[in-house]
Amino acid sequence: MASRQAIRIIAAAATAGAGIALAAWAGASPFAALLAALGGVAAYALAVQVERPAPAPPEPEDEEDEPAPLPGIAELLRAVDEPLLVVRDRRVLAANAAARQLLGAHIEGVDVRLAIRHPAAAERLAGPAGADDQNRRTELVGIGDPGRHWAMAVTVLPDQSRLVRLSDLSAARAAEQMRVDFVANASHELRTPLATVLGFIETLQDEDAGGDRKTRERFLRIMFDEGTRMRNLVDDLMSLSRIEAERFTVPREPVDLMPVIGEVKAALGQLIEAKQASVVVEKETPDTVVQGDRPQLAQLLNNLIANALKYGRAGAPVRVRLEGAGGEMIRLSVIDEGEGIPAEHLPRLTERFYRVDTGRSRAAGGTGLGLAIVKHIVLRHRGRLDIDSVLGQGTTIRVYLPRALAGHGVQQ
Ligand code: ADP
Repeated sequence: MASRQAIRIIAAAATAGAGIALAAWAGASPFAALLAALGGVAAYALAVQVERPAPAPPEPEDEEDEPAPLPGIAELLRAVDEPLLVVRDRRVLAANAAARQLLGAHIEGVDVRLAIRHPAAAERLAGPAGADDQNRRTELVGIGDPGRHWAMAVTVLPDQSRLVRLSDLSAARAAEQMRVDFVANASHELRTPLATVLGFIETLQDEDAGGDRKTRERFLRIMFDEGTRMRNLVDDLMSLSRIEAERFTVPREPVDLMPVIGEVKAALGQLIEAKQASVVVEKETPDTVVQGDRPQLAQLLNNLIANALKYGRAGAPVRVRLEGAGGEMIRLSVIDEGEGIPAEHLPRLTERFYRVDTGRSRAAGGTGLGLAIVKHIVLRHRGRLDIDSVLGQGTTIRVYLPRALAGHGVQQ
């Protein structure tokens, strides 16, 4: 009688587990659903055991025998992509492929402290399963690769074994670090000119210095330049955040690059004159229409041509070439005859605030964001960016952009 009631209760638990599983599949994470399903399977297995006639007395247990994981656990382990282990009495009973890849191919049957090899994990998994706080996440740094971050979550199963789940936090931590670095860099870049401006205002307030016309004019010119530097930086920061915010909407307007190059060339007139340079356009394809966002393409051209002028050799021409690149793309190259860029810097040039020579960049009015903006515009256009440089000869930056689809009107 008592056992019949137990069967009903356990069967109800099994049904509830399946119900929670369905609910969780619908609303919450698949992992939660799998856990709920596992609870149901485990309860069902217990129910079946209770219903059977009394089993024969067990054979004396071999001390070396591995205890079997709960039924259904193998399916659960296979279904989850992140590293997952079942641990009982500190021994790894089972591990999925991701766990074996991370911790080693032979972790099954091994003491969990040897399998995970992290003091915080060892401390947490050493105590009895029931005492574990299931809501706690333990952060483990350096498992697998030295810089990787993992969150360890533990769930105690009906048979008192523990399901140990490791979630990779590395990408989130790297993004967080990038954000912190970016804010620190941007603040530093703004603070430096601001300190200069405030310093000169104080000096001008002083009667002796402020009274002399020549000194005053010199100070005002410096303040103007520093103010302009801050404005350029704020403009670039705002451009960057706008382009990033739009990164999932691919621009589709047909844009003819030829008139855009003409406008950018005209806008850079002063710089061209100051460098006694020229900008030569080489049109080597009859069709120069791409799919894009016209203002952003103008900004891309402006940044690349301005860099070629700033860092190119004074008096040498900057060439802007348009060519076909396969049926679907157009290649835009901006070519200068400057000193070139040492190879070790090339992979980092499109990082925000990365400069080869900070003094030279600042003296030329650079913000350190020009190529980062170019990269994000290219990404949004689903294009490609190549930087090629030969020391002593010059730099070529190539941008591949998708051609406009035939039959679409061109934005002039
Ligand atoms: P900046 O505002 O400093 O010019 P960019 O992001 O446009 O910032 O460029 C990053 C760095 O790349 C520059 O500081 C410069 O050192 C280098 N660089 C960019 N374009 C060229 C080029 N055409 N020739 C040589 N160096 C360049």
